[in-house]
Amino acid sequence: MQASTQVAQLIRQMPKVELHLHMEGAIPLDTLLSLIKKKGTEPEINTVDDLRRRFTYTDFDNFIRLWVWKNTFITSEHDFEQITYDVLRDLHGQNVKYAELTYSPGDYWRHGAPSERKGFPPQKITECIIEGKQRAYTDFGIKSALIVDLIRDHGPEIGMRRIEELSPYLDKGLVGITIGGSEQHHPPGPYAGVYRRAKELGYRLSAHAGEVCGR
Ligand SMILES: [Zn+2]
Repeated sequence: MQASTQVAQLIRQMPKVELHLHMEGAIPLDTLLSLIKKKGTEPEINTVDDLRRRFTYTDFDNFIRLWVWKNTFITSEHDFEQITYDVLRDLHGQNVKYAELTYSPGDYWRHGAPSERKGFPPQKITECIIEGKQRAYTDFGIKSALIVDLIRDHGPEIGMRRIEELSPYLDKGLVGITIGGSEQHHPPGPYAGVYRRAKELGYRLSAHAGEVCGR
């Protein structure tokens, strides 16, 4: 056996923690394929290999375009229950014992007047994710905690609203906040008040930095 294969096996078998994982970016391909088939709008995607070919990234913009494309197959907040379960099943297969899952409910919800509201409410998404993580714990024994991504592009006002509306889930599996998104266009300064309030509410604080630019 080659040394590199032995090292890969050793790493796979080691007990691990996963501290930075964007859940919607880690959907196992077989799970995504079943969501695509359920929606029925992509006749050219029939196998996991078809999907693997589609997810060959050329640059960051291409990555974002594919991220958005992939999100269009999440057609109900209940899909998040299965996605969470399958992501944790996948991590369990890699002998991950504890995972902190970042999720971005703002990608699936638009605030506004009642007639303008669209998508899946962040509270519903959070509830479904909590159900999925509990089912995975029951079946695989894998522990997990949730970090809500406030998505810096959406602005601090929505961020403030999000931490208030999700605070009831703080003792149910949600533990912290972060601000992902376009670092180059949205520096973190305007979020200072959101971070202060999140701390008061009992959130743990984390922040994205350096994924897209140096700030
Ligand atoms: Zn990240």
